[in-house]
Amino acid sequence: MAHDLHAALTSLGIHNHHRLLLNVPANASSDASLAIVTSPTTNAPIAAVRLDDEKSYEETLARSAAAFKKWREVPAPVRGQVVRAIGDEFRTHKDALAAIITAEVGKITSEARGEVQETIDIADFAVGLSRQLYGLTMPSERPGHSMREQWLPLGPVGVISAFNFPNAVWAWNAMLAAVCGDTVVWKPSLLAPIIAIASNTLAQRVASRFGHEDLFTLVMGTDQLIGERFIADKRLPLISTTGSCRMGRRVGEVVSKRLGRSLLELGGNNAAIVHEDADLDLAARAIVFAAVGTCGQRCTTTRRLIAHESIVDQLLAKLSKTYQSVRIGDPAREGTLVGPLVNARAVEGFEHAIASAKQQGGTVLVGGGRASVAGLSGHFVQPTIIRAPANNQLPIAREETFAPILYVFTYRDIEDAIAMQNGVDQGLSSCIFTRHAGIAERFLSPAGSGSDCGIANVNLGTSGAEIGGAFGGEKDTGGGRESGSDSWKAYMRRQTCTINFSGKLELAQGIKFE
Ligand code: NAD
Repeated sequence: MAHDLHAALTSLGIHNHHRLLLNVPANASSDASLAIVTSPTTNAPIAAVRLDDEKSYEETLARSAAAFKKWREVPAPVRGQVVRAIGDEFRTHKDALAAIITAEVGKITSEARGEVQETIDIADFAVGLSRQLYGLTMPSERPGHSMREQWLPLGPVGVISAFNFPNAVWAWNAMLAAVCGDTVVWKPSLLAPIIAIASNTLAQRVASRFGHEDLFTLVMGTDQLIGERFIADKRLPLISTTGSCRMGRRVGEVVSKRLGRSLLELGGNNAAIVHEDADLDLAARAIVFAAVGTCGQRCTTTRRLIAHESIVDQLLAKLSKTYQSVRIGDPAREGTLVGPLVNARAVEGFEHAIASAKQQGGTVLVGGGRASVAGLSGHFVQPTIIRAPANNQLPIAREETFAPILYVFTYRDIEDAIAMQNGVDQGLSSCIFTRHAGIAERFLSPAGSGSDCGIANVNLGTSGAEIGGAFGGEKDTGGGRESGSDSWKAYMRRQTCTINFSGKLELAQGIKFE
């Protein structure tokens, strides 16, 4: 594992990066200037990273602010050419970057490659966008006047990322921000600092080749010392953050207090409704990927199954069979489908949720405990299915436990299923399996009385979104939108311009002031 990590870093030319210590010093755990990175697969330390102090933080912010003043002067389509080259760099190094993700957060190789592919895709998208940062023109009510709006660069953008998408979520923000004329300061999770160092170095190396220093910078440190300073920093007009609802409440509070903008991408509690007429084989395959993929550590993981009472047993039989055949093990190994949870705390959260579910009347149908993998002492658990009691009351299912637990509920009437799907605090992703166009349309009702989530799918699972759509959710998920569609507008400021070419002063609304 460590060998793969070293090889990957060497192939990227960053094994000697000043922040990285690949031989963890003996006193690292007592040195506050270092953070140790532990492999989720082996539970052994694989590196240490150097954290920022107040001085280095200040230097980074000052460099980013200075770079912004130059970068915003570069025409957007020319900025797009830099992003095009960055996308190519990620294309070239896709496998090495994926190997780092696998080593650091335990994501299986194919999903780690998929994550880097998302980075490449959003870079492509941003290149096209660099020629399409369109504003509107509006007819003026006054003769001899014209009106238009234009979108302007915003400033250095602060990006906070969660551990589970340690490369793509930064890229969703950074590639769009770059074509919009912003610089980016990234504060990654301390569970995934190595991929942050690698991704940021690659992007900045390309930008430097084009003569643009400090477009992409990094700050690293604890939430108390660096995180809090970062979110309170007025030099960052936008803080775009991904993580738990708890973190989002804190970021939202601090950023709104200084009247800054925040873009919040927070936790989900996603459900799949399976109607009586659904293709059960298709539904089962989609649900297994969405519930078990990334070991249940996606914000879009399916956590609740709401199945019609007439097909629930048949569906559960299919799911149970597949769950038992899912290969748990070394995420770097070909054929493994489920790697480890990220750390011991995550395993405790998994066990706590299962104990609570049992206490609340739930029945464990599959899994329910730790998994052992020969030769590895990482944080492996069994993908788990828990059936709610007949009255569908299971309070623990209202919480997002970041682990592969699927809670099963039943319904008779589609209205009850939709109410159940909407009956949690989070509102990220949702889906329905049905062959009935009317039922599907009811779920997507234009009146807004169907799914209340930011993402609503028909005949596919809750996870695995494409970059072309706007990504994000409602309610406690925070309301932010990233990635495709018109999400780029969050990274710019809008200016409305009225031009008087009449030679006379005329006031709006017919006001006379003479
Ligand atoms: P987390 O909330 O523990 O941490 C997320 C990030 O916030 C980290 O970088 C952390 O250091 C930072 N942070 C925490 N407190 C902070 C503070 N006071 N000031 C500044 N920064 C602070 O989340 P996690 O465990 O890394 O990730 C899992 C969570 O992220 C889940 O809830 C998941 O649903 C969510 N997530 C959401 C999306 C989305 O797009 N909606 C995507 C991925 C993950």
